[in-house]
Amino acid sequence: MMNRLLPTSTAGSLPKPSWLAEPETLWSPWKLQGQELTDGKQDALRLALHEQQQAGLDIVSDGEQSRQHFVTTFIEHLDGVDFAKREIMRIRNRYEASVPSVVGAVSRQKPVFVEDARFLRQQTKQPIKWALPGPMTMIDTLYDGHYKSREQLAFEFAKILNQEAKELAAAGVDIIQFDEPAFNVFFDEVNDWGIAALEQAIAGLDCETAVHICYGYGIKANTDWKQTLGSEWRQYEAVFPKLRESSIDIISLECHNSRVPMDLLALIRGKKVMVGAIDVANHSIETPEEVAATLRQALQFVDADKLYPCTNCGMAPLPRQIARGKLQVLTAGAALVRSELASC
Ligand SMILES: [Zn+2]
Repeated sequence: MMNRLLPTSTAGSLPKPSWLAEPETLWSPWKLQGQELTDGKQDALRLALHEQQQAGLDIVSDGEQSRQHFVTTFIEHLDGVDFAKREIMRIRNRYEASVPSVVGAVSRQKPVFVEDARFLRQQTKQPIKWALPGPMTMIDTLYDGHYKSREQLAFEFAKILNQEAKELAAAGVDIIQFDEPAFNVFFDEVNDWGIAALEQAIAGLDCETAVHICYGYGIKANTDWKQTLGSEWRQYEAVFPKLRESSIDIISLECHNSRVPMDLLALIRGKKVMVGAIDVANHSIETPEEVAATLRQALQFVDADKLYPCTNCGMAPLPRQIARGKLQVLTAGAALVRSELASC
């Protein structure tokens, strides 16, 4: 699909314009309503695409402009979940949150993002990537009073995600990415049934598939958690062997400014790797040389034709001009390494 080495992309979300939603805020309420909101989301998608194109990204996305949150918005469109019935739960063993309840069988009555994907497809001929929440991350943000089984609920969500993903692929999406930050926390469950649930979500898809596993947005709960992880972050080590055997095409990871030992990437040799070379948890813009240094390290363990420079995670909570600067430096850093590869 890609006609040049080191194709660049983002992990997913980009900041929203201030006329659409409160900036630098997760779950930010919309500032528009009705048809104005529908039109506003499409205009924001066009802007997000334009900024990616101006920065020279090779694989583009909607910047998640039509969703309030990468997990919640998808679940809001499903039957079986009561958003008025809240319970306090710990999210990824990290922080407490008031979450909605599963009160009956979960199902998808109609497509969630397919119209948005069709709209993005109309705007560009570039390869497009679309993010969906992964099954394990979805169950981790809900209180389950119906199935009373994390595994069963994950497989029910995987079936729904598979329906959505097939329609996204038919709408012209080139890469469907499942966001699974929960894979970095529940290692036993990932190996017992988490990867199997992911396989269910991608079954029969005729586009490429990716799984994004990160250490989260740059919000305080996550940066505090990172402080407790010690000098070497070896979480990926627990899930890589089984992921390597899975049929997922691409694995998207947090690498830049992290304490992930780069040699862990050898455990997924053969897979395409989206290497996070931009830190989303600070407001300082990397230099092209810093981005290039991370990519060069990754190249010791990932073949050049399988390395996809990317951001560590989504950039929704960042100020727009910072996110724009980070997009530009991502492509500049990739260009540096690309020219080195061409000359050797
Ligand atoms: Zn992420």
